[in-house]
Amino acid sequence: MRTIPQPRTPGARPGSRGPARSRARGVALLEFNGCPPGGASTAAAAAPCDPIMTYVVTESCIRCKYTDCVDVCPVDCFREGPNFLVIDPDECIDCTLCVAECPVEAIFAEDDVPADQQQFKQINAELAKLWKPIIERKPAPPDADEWRGVADKLKYLER
Ligand code: SF4
Ligand code: SF4
Repeated sequence: MRTIPQPRTPGARPGSRGPARSRARGVALLEFNGCPPGGASTAAAAAPCDPIMTYVVTESCIRCKYTDCVDVCPVDCFREGPNFLVIDPDECIDCTLCVAECPVEAIFAEDDVPADQQQFKQINAELAKLWKPIIERKPAPPDADEWRGVADKLKYLER
């Protein structure tokens, strides 16, 4: 069972794009599951909501980039680089939909990221500020299947 993190203040992450984006994320979250950022219940009859956590793309995606994950994200929070995708932690609403879509199991909740992939939390946060959104699935690189299951791919990450 994963540990539930403490609520964080919207917009409080280093480099956060501020209160306007946080409000937009809050609206998306309310529409998705009725929970405001921070997880407090809005409806008297509703059960308390879990705090939001972000999801993280890890090494398996490098040079695979199948983009199956993109189509299901309700808030378009994937960002695309040359051979890798990241999730913008300021936009992710913790819906979990992308996890099952990834054919190489690259996506983890931030509390479940494997020990040897922890650096990808920072990589996702940093590159999300530099890369542009991707909102539609596109063909994978021609050699994607050759890189499937290959270990130690961080050295191939193109920024
Ligand atoms: S589905 Fe998986 S491999 Fe494909 S882009 Fe998304 S995270 Fe990367
Ligand atoms: S959990 Fe995945 S699909 Fe859901 S908002 Fe976050 S990145 Fe998008």
